[in-house]
Amino acid sequence: MRKTLVAANWKMNGSREFAEAFFKALDLQGVSGDVAIFPPFPYLPLAASLLQNAGYERTFVGAQNVSQQAEGALTGEVSVSMLKDCGAHYVIVGHSERRSFYAESNTLVAQKFLAVKESGLVPVLCVGETLEEREASKTLDVIAAQLDAVFALAGGDCWSGAVIAYEPVWAIGTGKTATPEQAQKVHEFIRARLGAAGPQVQILYGGSVKSANAASLFEQPDIDGALVGGASLDAREFAEICRAA
Ligand code: PGA
Repeated sequence: MRKTLVAANWKMNGSREFAEAFFKALDLQGVSGDVAIFPPFPYLPLAASLLQNAGYERTFVGAQNVSQQAEGALTGEVSVSMLKDCGAHYVIVGHSERRSFYAESNTLVAQKFLAVKESGLVPVLCVGETLEEREASKTLDVIAAQLDAVFALAGGDCWSGAVIAYEPVWAIGTGKTATPEQAQKVHEFIRARLGAAGPQVQILYGGSVKSANAASLFEQPDIDGALVGGASLDAREFAEICRAA
């Protein structure tokens, strides 16, 4: 039986005041799965310490992005070892906003995935198709290419200890969720593509998840939790989603 994971991706939202208020309001009583919060970089140490003070088990912080390089003259970049210093446990790689707004290719995402793996942190690899790709029946091809680029670079046992998030681009921040059946179909495909590690890997769904639709998604056999954007900025709503997992 896989554990569930519900993750809050704050994106470029929040402030010190917001983070303090969020953790004060976050009540995770009755949550049985893992929970992770991904604040913007500057608030990672604060989030890590507030979460630790709250005293919940199996709660973690993570980063939304990372450099593929270990160090050097790379203005504005942040390395895996810096994230470790700040208390991060997870690192998101290949979020669709990074792929589309910052031109991150499958190859670059694979390099970031490998850097995270090698550091001992846990990569959360995001994959997903655009609306145009779905309408052209290319969903599974796009996802296969995104996964295969990682496998080609990181190879062998790269999926064990990693997390995958299926996030259809057309469902992110749009209020349009994939139906549980649509999501399950893709999750099943992803799991099969992961080979021997597949049965152990947590595969999260992301895209307009809220407390009202979370339970029906989590009922699907291959949906192991969620990566939540907009709804994760409300501590009560986020905790409801965590409780549904
Ligand atoms: P959303 O974002 O929940 O606001 O759709 C999800 C994500 O981008 O991770």
